[in-house]
Amino acid sequence: MIENSYMVSINGRKVPQKDKVFGINKMAMQMEKERGKESVINATIGALLDDNGELIVFSSVDKAFKDLKPQEYAKYAPIGGTPEFRRAAIDAALGDFSCEDRHVRAVATMGGTGAIRTAISNYSEYGESVLTTDWHWNPYKSITSEQDRNLETFPLFDEERNFNIKAFKMKVADILERQNRLAIILNTPAHNPTGYSINISEWESILNVLEDVRADKKIALIVDAAYIDYAGDEREVRGFIPILMRMPDNVIPFIAYSMSKTYTLYGMRCGALICIAPTEEIADEFVRYSEFSCRASWSNPVRAAQSIVTKIFNDNELREALVVQRTDIRNMLAARGKAFEEAAEKEGVLTEPFSAGFFCSIPHENPEAVAEKLREEGIFVIPLVHGFRVSIASISESVCRSLPRKIKIAMDSV
Ligand code: PLP
Repeated sequence: MIENSYMVSINGRKVPQKDKVFGINKMAMQMEKERGKESVINATIGALLDDNGELIVFSSVDKAFKDLKPQEYAKYAPIGGTPEFRRAAIDAALGDFSCEDRHVRAVATMGGTGAIRTAISNYSEYGESVLTTDWHWNPYKSITSEQDRNLETFPLFDEERNFNIKAFKMKVADILERQNRLAIILNTPAHNPTGYSINISEWESILNVLEDVRADKKIALIVDAAYIDYAGDEREVRGFIPILMRMPDNVIPFIAYSMSKTYTLYGMRCGALICIAPTEEIADEFVRYSEFSCRASWSNPVRAAQSIVTKIFNDNELREALVVQRTDIRNMLAARGKAFEEAAEKEGVLTEPFSAGFFCSIPHENPEAVAEKLREEGIFVIPLVHGFRVSIASISESVCRSLPRKIKIAMDSV
């Protein structure tokens, strides 16, 4: 169906009436106002809330923010970010893995969203396809369609509930029959919406698939690592980085890093696109073209956010405090995830394979109906294509334990 508009140019995009997640969250907040907070379970938003429903902000971040001097927030930042921020972003994303044999560069972006947008602008062609998994973060679709790219998917899981390497291999081959370059987005570890983390042997298989791609085809492998710091032991969860360093020269790996969750700085719009390039020329080209895209999209990135991150990085006390606070939150999330999974299993509710992070997902053929049924009970979840998403980041452990029973009742009734 061709959509008409009064004045706007549609340009092939399918633009919904409102953003799904923020729209349902608004409905939940409205109901909270009408019926009281205790009558509503709002499992929609990907922001960390404590057991009383209050936003968690790390005190180290709060302190660094309040100590900012005018020149640390008011001045324009360089287009690609301050040199100190770029270094801090690389250190934060790579952890102990220095990637010395590769040419690693960072460009500051507006959150992880800006990093993904910048990667798509520069490493895929108009009208061509970008590849991701069937379960995926919805904005991948908007980011690609806004820029006149198609989003194609392959099933994330195989019958054994592991990463579906066969489907990945087939889809890569299929798309590369039609085009000469391909941008692939893999959201791991602690995937949104399932909580899945691709394991090391699965990463080795991904490497094997990409090694088999003809050398004249160009691949951009974008690892969306928005939840990496909540995925488990910080070194262990970065175990895939040495595999990125072994990718063949026609593959350019990226890490899209977001400070929104990792620093509880959602509203400050801070992130970085990091390339792990095989040559200096490819790294220089990455910086030049990415900065051009940034300049054309939002111009300069937010200096205040960069100052906060570099302040924390260069101050041992603040940095250690952040690590301790984040570990506590990681443990809190793990406890919530475990409670939800155990209760779901007891109720016979199948969840998608969960490892860590902010979300769990439940497969269902009629997610809209289940979500609507739950809303009648004051429970808000996000219906997706293959099921629905529950944000364990925003509900307490005890709610995680009681919710699967209510979900089961709703599922049985539709
Ligand atoms: N990637 C995923 C999978 C996300 O869930 C999010 C945020 O919800 C982001 C990237 C980017 O977040 P932001 O732009 O707020 O940093």
